[in-house]
Amino acid sequence: MGVASSSSLLSLASHQHHSFPLTTTTFSSQIKTKLDSRSPFSFDPTSKNIPFESHLQLLAHSPTTHLSNCGFHWKVGTMKCGRLREMETEVGAVANTLLDLHGVNQDLVEKIAFDALVWSSLHGLLVGDKTAQRSGKVPGVGMVHAPFSLLPMSFPENQFNMACEVAPIFNELVDRVSLDGKFLQDSLSRTKKVDVFTARLLDIHSKMLEINKKEDIRLGLHRSDYMLDEHTKLLLQIELNTISSSFPGLSSLVTELHRNLLIHYGEQLRLDSKKIPGNTAVKQFAEALAKAWTEYNNPRAVVLVVAQPEERNMYDQHWLSSVLKERHNVTTIRKTLAEIDTEGELLPDGTLLVSGQAVAVVYFRAGYTPVDYPSESEWRARLLMEQSSAVKCPSISYHLAGTKKIQQELAKPNVLERFLDNKEDIAKVRKCFAGLWSLDDSEIVSHAIEKPELYVMKPQREGGGNNIYGEDVRETLLRLRKEGSEENAAYILMQMIFPSVSPTFLMRDGICHKDHAISELGIYGAYLRKKEKVIMNEQCGYLMRTKVSSSNEGGVAAGFAVLDSIYLT
Ligand code: ADP
Ligand code: MG
Repeated sequence: MGVASSSSLLSLASHQHHSFPLTTTTFSSQIKTKLDSRSPFSFDPTSKNIPFESHLQLLAHSPTTHLSNCGFHWKVGTMKCGRLREMETEVGAVANTLLDLHGVNQDLVEKIAFDALVWSSLHGLLVGDKTAQRSGKVPGVGMVHAPFSLLPMSFPENQFNMACEVAPIFNELVDRVSLDGKFLQDSLSRTKKVDVFTARLLDIHSKMLEINKKEDIRLGLHRSDYMLDEHTKLLLQIELNTISSSFPGLSSLVTELHRNLLIHYGEQLRLDSKKIPGNTAVKQFAEALAKAWTEYNNPRAVVLVVAQPEERNMYDQHWLSSVLKERHNVTTIRKTLAEIDTEGELLPDGTLLVSGQAVAVVYFRAGYTPVDYPSESEWRARLLMEQSSAVKCPSISYHLAGTKKIQQELAKPNVLERFLDNKEDIAKVRKCFAGLWSLDDSEIVSHAIEKPELYVMKPQREGGGNNIYGEDVRETLLRLRKEGSEENAAYILMQMIFPSVSPTFLMRDGICHKDHAISELGIYGAYLRKKEKVIMNEQCGYLMRTKVSSSNEGGVAAGFAVLDSIYLT
């Protein structure tokens, strides 16, 4: 299978200049209809039942401008004219900040795509190829380039800076919330009754509270995800990931790839490689892990990467292990939860041994979804690690602090004030919050039944593919209302965010797709603390994910997402 994959790449070599597989799938007309029908402006701002008060206030200021703008979204080329401007680069050259990507000459696109595929293969921008049987188990077998966007996505510099600025505040917030065991238990108490997975996590948390377990060294490797709401121009948080924040490795590489492409093709594209901000996510995450390892203070101990039995995204994880080894001389071992159950033991002093090796830091890249716990064995492993003195990334408290229910609780009035002292920090964090509600709010539930396209319904799950959109929101809410069941505590409702749509080229399986897409920006953050001393609290690079807009999921992409970087405007 590996041969098949590499030969398909090789076959591109002979097609370098003329018959590169460029497909031009566009869904413009479908999406236009969709966009019009889901426009927040169909929402009556004078209505008494205004759920998104603050957002609507902003919307109400310039509805006509935005409405008329909506009509131009799909005319590639006109769409960004208003924002097209020129700027001086350091060398005095003139570069367009934004480019009509779909207007780029096809020969040039093919050349760039070919170079990009070669670059990603040579530099480890890779995932396991799902058509190769062993690609999720054995490194070096059945690899394919990770899906990526051919060129970076433009993004406003001030919004990017703001997202970077709040990262350390979110880091601190997670730490503070994690220390309030009662807040976590109380906030999730109703969810616990109807969601078995969350209940199991809470049970472990309760056990730790009972034995008064203290985590003196606390390590958080987070990623806060945002979408830029086109109409309000607000950068709104989608979610805060506190477990298994993925792609620090590959996102750093995509940034490198895009910078490289612009160094070579920037002049023709009239784009400046320096407008792509540097991305040191992998370096900083490795540094945080190494510092936590140092604080644990056992030179023979290792970092344990808790991995899924099959992991096609293993190279992203191997990048982190590799930087840890090469820059910090720290060894990692990879184990599944089941293996940790079999091979793990706890010494009387709290040391965690796995296959005889002391573990300084447990880094979870599994354990965030019920699928990772097919039997009691995996739960035993999770408990064993939690009871140990190893630094957990994340601890059970950090994990719970990142649940969607807690996100919704933190968005309630006066809750942030319980955890953060600085008023400016509170204001900055609050500004990122979209409308978030529990299903106890009957007014919001009624409104969501009436206008389901303005909401996303989310269960307490991580890892994608669990949310409910559009008509399904209405149906689920009506069913829950009819049954009057407790099940509604399993969900939260969130305001639907509508990012702008841009022309793009998406690379997948060696094929370049021309399409329109929306993007989600993730900002990484690392936090390390020993008792009262904060050792590290930093923003660490970013992840841009770009995906084709789809008409299936209430306007949110059901198509494919690719890794991307950003071009500051
Ligand atoms: P998960 O933990 O499964 O990643 P998310 O909250 O990140 O859950 O939702 C998954 C995806 O759904 C996001 O990446 C985003 O594309 C989309 N999404 C989530 N919330 C919203 C929202 N409020 N508005 C628009 N899209 C959303
Ligand atoms: Mg997510």
